[in-house]
Amino acid sequence: MIGVVASPSQYSAVEEFFELFKTPWEFCKTDRNYEVLICADDGTAPHSSANLTVVYCGRKLPIDAFGNVEITSSRRGRRVLSGDGMRIPIYGDSVTFANDGACILRDEESRHPATYTACAAGGGTVIRIGYDLFDEVNVLLIEGQPCENASIPALEFHISVLRTLIVSSGIPLKEIPPVPSGYRFIACLTHDVDHPAIRRHMFDRTMFGFLYRAVITSLFGVLRGRASARMLFTNWVAVLKLPFVYLGIAKDFWNQLDTYTRLDGGGRSSFFVIPFKGRPGSKEGKLAPSHRASGYSAADVAAVTQQLQSEGHEIGLHGIDAWHDKSKGREELDEIRRITGEREIGTRMHWLYFDNRSPAVLEDLGVDYDSTVGYNEAVGYRAGTAQVYKPLNVTRLLELPLHVMDTALFLSGRQHLSPTEASKLVEAIIDHATEFGGVVTVNWHDRSIAPERLWLDFYAQLLDECKRKGAWFASAGDTVRWFRRRRAAKFDDLDLKAGKLKHPETAERLPGMFLRVHNAGFLPLHNDDMSRGSSVESAQTEAVDTTLHRG
Ligand SMILES: [Zn+2]
Repeated sequence: MIGVVASPSQYSAVEEFFELFKTPWEFCKTDRNYEVLICADDGTAPHSSANLTVVYCGRKLPIDAFGNVEITSSRRGRRVLSGDGMRIPIYGDSVTFANDGACILRDEESRHPATYTACAAGGGTVIRIGYDLFDEVNVLLIEGQPCENASIPALEFHISVLRTLIVSSGIPLKEIPPVPSGYRFIACLTHDVDHPAIRRHMFDRTMFGFLYRAVITSLFGVLRGRASARMLFTNWVAVLKLPFVYLGIAKDFWNQLDTYTRLDGGGRSSFFVIPFKGRPGSKEGKLAPSHRASGYSAADVAAVTQQLQSEGHEIGLHGIDAWHDKSKGREELDEIRRITGEREIGTRMHWLYFDNRSPAVLEDLGVDYDSTVGYNEAVGYRAGTAQVYKPLNVTRLLELPLHVMDTALFLSGRQHLSPTEASKLVEAIIDHATEFGGVVTVNWHDRSIAPERLWLDFYAQLLDECKRKGAWFASAGDTVRWFRRRRAAKFDDLDLKAGKLKHPETAERLPGMFLRVHNAGFLPLHNDDMSRGSSVESAQTEAVDTTLHRG
């Protein structure tokens, strides 16, 4: 059992950190002994007989003076630590030390150690770490990471550092990894429905933009080697077809929702639909740009969305003002509830509009989950994590972070990558997921596989890669449900002899969870067939070597 000492202002970050780590812990009680004691905030450790004490603090502490360890640099933010194949940006206070001993993290520039092993009076090991873990969790889950650190799953790395310290000390550790039983990770395919038909855009900015990019940009794309002649041909044919689309003679080539149901390979996907047309919404007291307004209403596509629902796909709210305005949010949510007949609705905001108060607004509205936290200009981990998490200021709403968005990868003015460059970035995200578990949330817009974007081949490759690497393809709603069950799992309910984990809900057919046990010489283990999906009630147990394997 891990005991935690932290300041009250860090309590919600501590609780969420251990929901993501999912290992037994409690806030430190003075009358109890712990195998591992974690001291954050000011690093004051109660007298303890713990085998391992980890002291996290980004400022100089009495323990440093006591051990004669000099602080070599002290700063707020602007530091990257590296070690064990990881790069971890530190956003709060941090210090480095003058110490020659072994350390697991060093300042990337100065190479000074950011950790050291201190002498302990009681015989246990004390490891001093030069930043505050829970202050970092606060920053990641509230403000998020800047774009330049998008590719770093910082929160997963923080978990990994702590796990390595515990496991390498030979202390037994149980955890329920964020990995559905029988798979390596979750691939969540989502589609923001912004432009389900080009015929709704006659002589507007969207139509002229389409013509310009289809005729001119794709020609330059071919000349610069960024697009193929076949793409140019397809786009020019689409331009010639356009009048016939407007006349209703030719098929509307932006109407691609049914194509996605075939591409998404039998898994369930999620489609976020805009409730009302012609409403740009507002931000910071001002009207949003007029071209944020949609050319369609959810009611216009009700027939096709109901068909998608009947095939098992999910329809969510692509919110206009729901992120900041409760009365408008209620109207938007009610419209999607009316059309879908579903009570539990998830959201993603159009243009990813969101701020720190949005989780509380959405929770008040009764939204089931949100999936807006991501970047418009980058792919990766805004909140530093591939796991579904609970924003720190709400009680029930969960956030499914968005990791890979088509427009962020390819649009000029955003990352503007070639398919090869984009593949590298996306593969790294999938590789992190196979290593740490969690979910890769993908947003491929409705029109992105159609002219003039034609990002179909890349999307198909991405799906193949996920399939090959062992993904469970799940809708956003099912992904969130799976994480809710993991959050509900209690270690007290664990019956290791029977290899069973009790869950409060048992009705849903979702993959199970498994227990990973490190340094478990004394525990009875049930090594079920890991490749087989288990029923929701069974918990497989997996023994892990005394040394933790990364990758
Ligand atoms: Zn949108």
